[in-house]
Amino acid sequence: MTVWRSPEFDAHEHLSFFSDPETGLRAVVAIHSTALGPAVGGTRFWTYPTETMAVDDALRLSRAMSYKCALAGLPLGGGKSVIIGDPAILKTEPLLKAYGGFLNRVGERFSTGEDVGFTVADCEIIRSVSPYVAGTASRGAGDPSIHTALGAFHGLRAVLETRFDREDFAGVHVAVQGLGNVGWRLCEYLHAAGARLSVADVDPAKTARAERAFHAEAVVPNAIHAVEAEIYAPCALGGVINPETLPYIQAKAIAGAANNQLASSDIGAALQARGILYAPDYVINAGGVVGAVEELATIPGRRFEAVQPVEQRLEHIRDRLIDIFGRARQEGATPEATAMRMAREMIAQSRSVAELTN
Ligand code: NAD
Repeated sequence: MTVWRSPEFDAHEHLSFFSDPETGLRAVVAIHSTALGPAVGGTRFWTYPTETMAVDDALRLSRAMSYKCALAGLPLGGGKSVIIGDPAILKTEPLLKAYGGFLNRVGERFSTGEDVGFTVADCEIIRSVSPYVAGTASRGAGDPSIHTALGAFHGLRAVLETRFDREDFAGVHVAVQGLGNVGWRLCEYLHAAGARLSVADVDPAKTARAERAFHAEAVVPNAIHAVEAEIYAPCALGGVINPETLPYIQAKAIAGAANNQLASSDIGAALQARGILYAPDYVINAGGVVGAVEELATIPGRRFEAVQPVEQRLEHIRDRLIDIFGRARQEGATPEATAMRMAREMIAQSRSVAELTN
């Protein structure tokens, strides 16, 4: 296994490994940067085919969290934890408690929450042994997808203004891929705002419900990217904008909550060349962490408090995206490249201020 030569390694501050043979726990915590504040990032419980893939995922996702927090204007850094294995087989209360003990050893630099394979209920169990967890229903915002969906809706507003030069969704056709926790709520906001919806999900019961609730048109899952809509909103899987799907995309903008929508960075340039505006995923889907600030502030070692109400902070996602789109246009760069540059500058600036004042 390589760490320093991994393509995902980006001068990460910290990487730790933990195992507990009694419960079968094998976990990795990666901290990309604490320049802006203590690192935050969910725990992904996943059947990684190799240990290298698990470490690479932790490195990559923790860097994305640094960018997400920086661009959301949060006093937080980027981290991520992965637990290797099938949660359906391996996840037990003793394993989660052993994991909580690991988090205690990592300490104030990192706190975690939900992610793939890791639920609010799991966070509650961790909370009984460790303070370094947010996203618990009893103390905090609970399910982050509520805020993620509203943040994504504000992101779609930015796209509407920038690409279509209009402020209202009346009659605007949006193709939503995935009717899960985020996608369904996003549909609620869009429907209430007057948008026309096409929807797809691998679960036909969800699309049938959407047909009734939103008068949406149900589309087969492998065709939703090709719908002739104004906006395509991926809210299911990563990697959905790839060389196979790209030629068929009819939408003039792509804006959704799914993580890692672009299969590779050169896809961003290909979208730009076709006049398709892309809202960088880690900017538009920051609502979950934005909404958790109050709870994160109660974790030991955090010296910040939420000054604005959550609704206002979520609206900031629209302003940030409008700023990124404007700068990208001026620079002749893709929104993705501009967002990354801005995030890296914010982190570097904060690091140099810290070095000067220490
Ligand atoms: P979810 O598991 O609740 O929903 C995903 C939905 O997508 C499910 O209904 C599933 O049936 C459907 N789906 C799966 N494969 C599909 C396919 N091929 N075509 C169409 N539909 C398909 O997940 P979620 O919490 O709604 O998150 C959605 C996306 O947003 C994920 O990529 C997630 O990483 C990202 N995200 C979520 C949050 C959050 O707060 N939940 C925050 C940031 C990013």
